[in-house]
Amino acid sequence: MWRAAELGVGFALRAVNERVPQAAPRLGAVSKTRPADMVIEAYGHGQRTFGDNYVQELLEKTSNPKILSSCPEIKWHFIGHLQKQNVNKLMAVPNLFMLQTVDLAKLADKVNSSWQKKGSTEKLTVMIQINTDGEDSKHGLPPSGTIAMVEHIKANCPSLEFVRLMTIGSFGHDLNQGPNPDFQVLVSLREELCKKLSIPADQVELNMGVSMDFQHAIEVGSTNVRIGNKTAAELAAPVAAAQER
Ligand SMILES: *Cc1c(COP(=O)(O)O)cnc(C)c1O
Repeated sequence: MWRAAELGVGFALRAVNERVPQAAPRLGAVSKTRPADMVIEAYGHGQRTFGDNYVQELLEKTSNPKILSSCPEIKWHFIGHLQKQNVNKLMAVPNLFMLQTVDLAKLADKVNSSWQKKGSTEKLTVMIQINTDGEDSKHGLPPSGTIAMVEHIKANCPSLEFVRLMTIGSFGHDLNQGPNPDFQVLVSLREELCKKLSIPADQVELNMGVSMDFQHAIEVGSTNVRIGNKTAAELAAPVAAAQER
């Protein structure tokens, strides 16, 4: 459970980050179903990035007066599937920082124009979600569409800034069979993308890994993990181990 004690998670990773700054994986605390008080407590421990996967829940949580007054530097990520009809609602989220799940050019266009209308001086950062295992039940762009999507955003969406590739990937992969192939797909996609579009590799981060598999994800190159169900103690040891290699 993501209990109050969890909230050292920010601490756990920061301690690691200080030791190995160039390889620092960053923690997105997944706050879906968690009450506002837990978010405030985590914020008090130094956690700044939080993600939710339903637009309505995110809007309510981020508009909570206690969160608004206690967490001025909070950065909200939307991590769920986004339908076009919900874009305007999402754009109303206070302190929205990142949309993790862009998977259609038309969605990117709509988010771009909606963000523009809001008149923000900052760009909205976005990730492209890739469906690395090709399962129909999962959202995301097929890997082969990645380069065209990045080009589309760069050419047509001046209010968006593409920063990362994201995947959910297969659950319960047995590491005895070797590395998770979904993570490998994302790693090699970045390589291909950066080469084709002449982008320095360190400008495209990889967001992959959840409570169950974040340690492996970091080992194979993830820079950002999404964690909903770990205590600080559970996180600290494996993350530290992953970094020390
Ligand atoms: C819930 C959720 C997570 C977190 O999963 P845990 O198993 O709780 O760590 C990560 N990513 C997405 C998209 C989610 O919806």
